This record gives sequence, structure tokens and C-alpha cells, in this order.
Amino acid sequence: MLKDVCKCEFTNSFKLEADFMADPIWCNVCGWNLDIEEFPISDKLQEELLEWVSEYGRWIDLETDSLKENVLELVENHNKKGLQLFQEVKKQLGEKYPIIFVPSK
Ligand SMILES: [Zn+2]
Repeated sequence: MLKDVCKCEFTNSFKLEADFMADPIWCNVCGWNLDIEEFPISDKLQEELLEWVSEYGRWIDLETDSLKENVLELVENHNKKGLQLFQEVKKQLGEKYPIIFVPSK
């Protein structure tokens, strides 16, 4: 079990959620951003997760700070890919690391 990874003395509840400039696994209790290298998942899956996170926010036009026209489609596709990765993460982590998926809105 993971200890001393966040503010909790002990946590066994995690969530997979994409955000800017952060690893996609968080403590589901205190909300701390966790290092995905701490988790027993394959290098390939880690790479895929980081790539997925890097695509987060593509629906925001940073120059004008506004949402792009096809925002719903972009978010939906991102969530779909996230869900696929989540199934793999869940499989690799097993029962010792309960994790949920939090889609982007
Ligand atoms: Zn925590």
C-alpha cells in the first residue's frame, strides 16, 4: 500500500483525472497529486497516460482564453480515451489500489 505519498497518513482511494501540468493520478481523499511512477503500472501505460494528459485542454484557445467551437467533441474524445486508459490502469493496479475515473467537463 502507498504510504506517505500525500497528506493522508494512509490512503487506498485514488482517482484518474486529467489536469494541466500534473500527473493524472490523485489521492481521492485529500486531492493530492501523485507521482505515477509510484504506481505498479507498465512504462508503456505511464507514457500513454502522460500523452493523454498532455492533450488535456486542447479545447481551450489559449490565445483568446475561450473555448473552441468543437469543444464538446474534443472533451468527449478525451474522456473516451481516458476511460480506455482507466480500464488498463485498473487492471494493472489490481484490487489493492481502488481507483475511479473522473471525466473532464
Ligand atoms: Zn491523501
